[in-house]
Amino acid sequence: MPTICWFRRDLRLGDHPALLAAVAQARADDDEVVALYVVDPVLQHSAGAPRLAYLAASLRALDEATGGRLVVRHGRADHVVPEAAREVGATSVHVSAATEPYGRRRDDAVAAALAAGGAALVRTGSPYAVAPGRLRTGQDGPYQVFTPFRRAWLDHGWHAPAPRPGSVPWATLPSDGVPDAPPTDVRLPDAGEHAAHARWRAFLRDDLDGYDVDRDRPDLDVTSRMSVHLKHGEIHPRTMLADLAAAGTGATGRAAESVATYRSELAWREFHADVLWHSPDATRRSLRPAVPDDAWATGAGADDALTAWTEGRTGYPLVDAGMRQLRAEGWMHNRVRMVVASFLVKDLHIPWQRGADHFMAWLVDGDVPQNQLNWQWVAGTGRDAAPYFRIFNPVTQGRRFDPDGAYVRRWVPELRGVPGAAVHEPWRLPDGPPPGYPDPMVDHAHEREVALADHARRPT
Ligand SMILES: Cc1cc2nc3c(=O)[nH]c(=O)nc-3n(C[C@H](O)[C@H](O)[C@H](O)COP(=O)(O)OP(=O)(O)OC[C@H]3O[C@@H](n4cnc5c(N)ncnc54)[C@H](O)[C@@H]3O)c2cc1C
Repeated sequence: MPTICWFRRDLRLGDHPALLAAVAQARADDDEVVALYVVDPVLQHSAGAPRLAYLAASLRALDEATGGRLVVRHGRADHVVPEAAREVGATSVHVSAATEPYGRRRDDAVAAALAAGGAALVRTGSPYAVAPGRLRTGQDGPYQVFTPFRRAWLDHGWHAPAPRPGSVPWATLPSDGVPDAPPTDVRLPDAGEHAAHARWRAFLRDDLDGYDVDRDRPDLDVTSRMSVHLKHGEIHPRTMLADLAAAGTGATGRAAESVATYRSELAWREFHADVLWHSPDATRRSLRPAVPDDAWATGAGADDALTAWTEGRTGYPLVDAGMRQLRAEGWMHNRVRMVVASFLVKDLHIPWQRGADHFMAWLVDGDVPQNQLNWQWVAGTGRDAAPYFRIFNPVTQGRRFDPDGAYVRRWVPELRGVPGAAVHEPWRLPDGPPPGYPDPMVDHAHEREVALADHARRPT
């Protein structure tokens, strides 16, 4: 009897325990594995063109890796998956467990529909080194704070990477074909498992050493850019953690620090997935309100301010550079993500959810747990969030992390003629901002005071 491996956000063949389980079952039955991907209208609707275009490229790579046997079907998963199982007579559908709210609901519906036909949804592994929900505090509750979570995560540890299956007996079935990539001007990185490993190896070789310090410098552009590959599951974090452990063996000083810092960033990814596991409504709801509802800007003025922010026309160069990088690359440096998010929430007084929606429309690595919980962190509304009074100053952040202004000049052509760090305060130039570049849309010092006064009135 054939068995099905239903790929979702695990678009790879290596270190894939669910695929191994499917292959083992097929071999035991002396039969084949169906490589299934379902184009789900709900997920298609919530992703912007850049992420959909990347997904199409990643699916093409997976199709190639399966020798052209990827079976793509369109429709609701709770219809399509049981139908495929009936079509081939499969009694089990193997998946890596989904852990976000939508994926969990979808999988429960699929499991119920499969069970009605006598088949089972078999969940093996997840997109994380330690499955969300597994770690519990001494009081048997969820972790609220990152540092103890990370300690427990490190103590718990994880399995070694799963072996890559040898030859897989892929089944041949009619397929609707990989969806066309929607048009986009965003410059996308290479997609697929092979590209993910190539990027990772290049990072380990060229940039891991020094990551502990340089990762905060958007001008240097030395972070790994693995988020997009992790989002689509083209590599499993366990593979990366094993490589980091190897890189850290015998390392001292900065090299050892860099390994520990990178591992810690992966721990943030796992922490956010864990928080969302326990609080699924954190996708939209602030986990703890930071200001009263009447503090938020509304109406046409707020809409115009949001538009200026999305288009990179705020008059604050670091903010504008980040927002333009997002539109050009579907990615933004982490430090700058924090600065632009803080600016939206604390300088423009616009709720974090509106900024998170814009990010999800443009980010190629857009990922519900990471995006929503990082927005809540900056907004001061999340578990273990930055305190609300920590308001990023876009000028001092620019001077500190883009000291020569190279990042701003790369993304804001109107400012290319302004040398050095002066680029962070174009309103102080003798003739004011160069032609075409706006004056600051708000006074940061004033808006900071407004935000703090709002916070003082927060509901308790
Ligand atoms: C407002 C805001 C929104 C964000 N939205 C997303 C998102 O939708 N998807 C996403 O993957 N990341 C998101 N991040 C986290 C972070 O900015 C990106 O993971 C990082 O910039 C990706 O680039 P990189 O792979 O080069 O990072 P590196 O510095 O090379 O980090 C290595 C890996 O660690 C993880 N990581 C690093 N920083 C964080 C973090 N703060 N939180 C969680 N994981 C982290 C990522 O998986 C990343 O690939 C967001 C951050 C902020 C402040």
